[in-house]
Amino acid sequence: MKIERRNFLKTLVVGGVALAVAPVLRIRDAIADLVKSDDPLVVALGYVAVAKNSKDRKDKKALCKNCQFYSDTTGKEKQAKCQLIPSGEVAAEGWCRSYSKRKA
Ligand code: SF4
Repeated sequence: MKIERRNFLKTLVVGGVALAVAPVLRIRDAIADLVKSDDPLVVALGYVAVAKNSKDRKDKKALCKNCQFYSDTTGKEKQAKCQLIPSGEVAAEGWCRSYSKRKA
């Protein structure tokens, strides 16, 4: 099968654009999935996306990423689902008043 130069170049350009745009779209999707700060449940739980910004947090090691309700147990994700907040994902470095340390 003979590949025409024009088709080859077109494929190269389309592939290059797709590769360049994919990370941007992934970041946009990730940001869009985060819980909204005005969600009544988020407010009721006192959730903050940056744990150190909470006045109520006493344990400095308490973070969503080591909470038993946080779905990512690998510690690699920057955000993941919380079993208590169904409307979106929470930040790995976040915290709320329902924090419960995950058992090892
Ligand atoms: S319950 Fe745990 S994972 Fe969910 S928001 Fe609170 S601290 Fe984060």
